[in-house]
Amino acid sequence: MKKQIVIVGTSFAGYSTALSLAKLLHDRHEITVIDRSSDFMFLPSLVWHPFGYRHPEDISFDTLPIFDKQGIKFIETTVYGFDLNEQLVITPEKDIPFDYLVIATGTKANYDSVKGYVPGTTSWSICSMAEAERTRKAWKDFLRNPGPLVIGASQWAGYFFAAYEFMMNALYQLKSHHLLSKVPVHFITAEPYLTHFGIGSAPEDSKACEAIFDRYNIQWKTSTEIRELKEREVILENGERIVSDFNMIIPQFIGVDAVRTTRNLANPFGLIHVNEKCQHRDYPNIYAAGSAVYIPQKEETLVPCGVPRTRYSSEIMAKAVAYNIASDLIGGGTISIPVERVYEYCKQDMDHLGAILFRHAHEIEHDLDFIAKGSQEKWANMSIETYIENSFELENLNFIN
Ligand SMILES: Cc1cc2nc3c(=O)[nH]c(=O)nc-3n(C[C@H](O)[C@H](O)[C@H](O)COP(=O)(O)OP(=O)(O)OC[C@H]3O[C@@H](n4cnc5c(N)ncnc54)[C@H](O)[C@@H]3O)c2cc1C
Repeated sequence: MKKQIVIVGTSFAGYSTALSLAKLLHDRHEITVIDRSSDFMFLPSLVWHPFGYRHPEDISFDTLPIFDKQGIKFIETTVYGFDLNEQLVITPEKDIPFDYLVIATGTKANYDSVKGYVPGTTSWSICSMAEAERTRKAWKDFLRNPGPLVIGASQWAGYFFAAYEFMMNALYQLKSHHLLSKVPVHFITAEPYLTHFGIGSAPEDSKACEAIFDRYNIQWKTSTEIRELKEREVILENGERIVSDFNMIIPQFIGVDAVRTTRNLANPFGLIHVNEKCQHRDYPNIYAAGSAVYIPQKEETLVPCGVPRTRYSSEIMAKAVAYNIASDLIGGGTISIPVERVYEYCKQDMDHLGAILFRHAHEIEHDLDFIAKGSQEKWANMSIETYIENSFELENLNFIN
């Protein structure tokens, strides 16, 4: 009898798992993907949206025709939670039974992690398309009516790199609008040094970043904790108050509600602990991949930092999940990927990003032009077209047992 494999989430982790499984199983078992939307939203491009470089239709695509072609069923709904013992996915319409479950629901911004953080009121945000859209309008207004600018990442933030990219894009636009000398700019971060990215990335990029920030008179502060956000004011834990007419703060990211509220599924932050087969520790038929997975922090920092999650590490986990489920069902190799290895992949990604954004940039006279070019190069590597093409190719995974 055909087994039911249900995957929740159709972004980097869920989409990659579904396609890899379809290729491995050849219709021998049922694959169902559930997501609140069939559109794959390319989250990394949200950093570009507020500056008008990309539009929603440029950074998302409909997975339905692709799933149809591969014989994958898709259900568009919001999952409320899971019954782990009865093996059910709970949705408003019905409970969906599974033999194997893959949780690829990612994370969500935890605005409560910073007192007073009300997106759209006390800070602008780029953590979702809706927020990025509002930030885009606010940024346009800001360029017409500039004032003090604060960009940063709070204690426990997971995506520090998004703050740097936002900063570089902001600087580039300030320069284009001849506002660089008129706008006081602050960069505040919980990281112990610039470009640490929450994972101890290449410290040599830090010097390059410092040089650029100093050149543009950016007041930067590391190991900084935010006590409270107020309208037009950022209050730091040391009592310092920074006036701002526009701020964009990256908050902490935690697991989504459906995962956090299911008993015995995740830790208090809603992140799922898995073994090296990406299986839940207590439920071997439940797997997790992508940013929904808990990755322990290796080094303590003065102000706590979250571990950055990356698209590549999500895909690696997704492929491991697909191989391991397929191996269970039809035999064949399995993939082991300890979380420490996932951590290393995230670190490599961050080193790469640091190199693109900062290494050598300070040696160049027109460094902001270089930065814009560097960021575009990064974006090009992550373009949707490339992504769709690549997602049809299973890489040679040399760690198959
Ligand atoms: C602003 C920003 C910039 C970033 N830049 C980069 C970058 O430059 N490089 C990089 O590698 N990474 C970057 N990242 C991180 C990267 O986006 C994540 O690592 C990646 O998206 C994780 O993929 P995922 O599939 O695990 O989860 P997600 O992409 O978060 O996808 C989760 C999916 O699950 C669905 N879902 C969640 N809950 C439910 C529910 N209850 N019911 C139904 N569906 C649900 C969602 O709709 C979504 O489709 C960035 C992230 C942000 C926020």
